[in-house]
Amino acid sequence: MTVKKAIEVIELAMQHYQTIVNGITELVSKWEDKDDMPSRMAKMLVIEAEQSIMVLKLILKQIKPDCKHLKKYRDRDSKGNWYCTNCNLDL
Ligand SMILES: [Zn+2]
Repeated sequence: MTVKKAIEVIELAMQHYQTIVNGITELVSKWEDKDDMPSRMAKMLVIEAEQSIMVLKLILKQIKPDCKHLKKYRDRDSKGNWYCTNCNLDL
């Protein structure tokens, strides 16, 4: 199930970028001058990370479709988890 692993990696990367966004935003909020060079650079990093999250969301949407196949295509893997034999999506 390589799709499942790819989805996990993408979700981890999204969490990573969100941690960056949250961390920098909190840090900048404590700075006195919010429009000096370091503050502007920090805001640029936040924008970059937010754009990366948006791109990853678009990729995720492409590879993680909703399974609308019939129940007859459902089966269990070696660990007993249900998945669709038609689109390989975990259910
Ligand atoms: Zn399916």
